[in-house]
Amino acid sequence: MEVPFNDLKFVYQRHRKEYLEASRRVLDSGWYVLGPEVKSFEEEFADFVGVDHCVGVASGLDALFLALKALEIGPGDEVIVPSNTYIATVLAVTQNGAKPVFVEPDQYYGLSAQLLEKSIGPKTKAIIPVHLYGQPCDMKAILEIAEKTGIPVVEDCAQAHGATYQGRCVGSFGTIGCYSFYPTKNLGAFGDAGAITTNNKHLAEKIRILRNYGSEKKYQNMVVGYNSRLDEIQAALLRVRLRHMEEVVFEREKIANFYLKKLKDVGFVLPKIRPLCRHVWHLFTVETPARKELQTFLKERKIETSIHYPIPPHLSEAYSELGFRKGDFPVAERMSDQILSLPLYVGMEERDVDQVVCGIRCFSRGRI
Ligand SMILES: *Cc1c(COP(=O)(O)O)cnc(C)c1O
Repeated sequence: MEVPFNDLKFVYQRHRKEYLEASRRVLDSGWYVLGPEVKSFEEEFADFVGVDHCVGVASGLDALFLALKALEIGPGDEVIVPSNTYIATVLAVTQNGAKPVFVEPDQYYGLSAQLLEKSIGPKTKAIIPVHLYGQPCDMKAILEIAEKTGIPVVEDCAQAHGATYQGRCVGSFGTIGCYSFYPTKNLGAFGDAGAITTNNKHLAEKIRILRNYGSEKKYQNMVVGYNSRLDEIQAALLRVRLRHMEEVVFEREKIANFYLKKLKDVGFVLPKIRPLCRHVWHLFTVETPARKELQTFLKERKIETSIHYPIPPHLSEAYSELGFRKGDFPVAERMSDQILSLPLYVGMEERDVDQVVCGIRCFSRGRI
């Protein structure tokens, strides 16, 4: 049997009727961009996160970009980002003309609050903690630093829908929370989509205007805006997925707990769960210097794995002009060399999870 890294079919098939009904409702309505479905989704998602406002946009990158834009971050400004994030976090900073300042992660793969404090300077205009792999960052410590220095926090929640820190959902801590609904995310659309969450009415309104050509009223353009709108059909489908969100998190937790239990003695570094947090397991990673051999070994046994991420942003070709070198961020570099993501998806059968565990145990037995 083949075990894929991910398979999005199951999510759809399980509630197929509801998805078809939602798409048909939109198609029949004759209204396809920014309408009643988007409005309802924004309200429902704001409720889910526990904030006053949600604004739907075209993607997770746009959510981050528009959040920084609304905070008026631009050339000459610095924004703190994790050294071990997906490149989108960094792109949002540089697309605004600002400079990314990288900070290494703590033992939970989240932005280190200790190192954060040392990296803040007079030009720092925002801090972007990324709740990587589905686990919240150390929000208490990060918020304390942010409040002391008066710097806004923009949470990158693209991998952490429903993750909680001390019982509160990510995306409700910072000035703005940014979500992606890319199909593979825990709450995924059937195409590109994203949203911002906030308790700040002024910022929500600003982003609402920015996403739609800088206008509130048709053909009255108040600012230089963008086209970053959410489709009605995606919003309608997201409303269905949101209704079944708890089931998704529960299922992911079950698989992750099984991995944690069965792999605890194989000699790899397993994910650690931050106290008082709910990890939603967007990705389940193991860390080993023998990553390449392990990946090949599993591939031969028809188990597909993935790497998040093979090149840290500071070493990416796209950012060669920033002038960073190998060795500048050793923790992020070690992660990119050693980390491997195991299959984990909704609809994954017990025998598939068993097969992955068997493969890994087999590999480590052969090496002792
Ligand atoms: C997916 C992702 C994004 C970008 O989301 P898109 O919807 O693909 O633009 C941003 N940050 C992180 C951490 C992500 O995983």
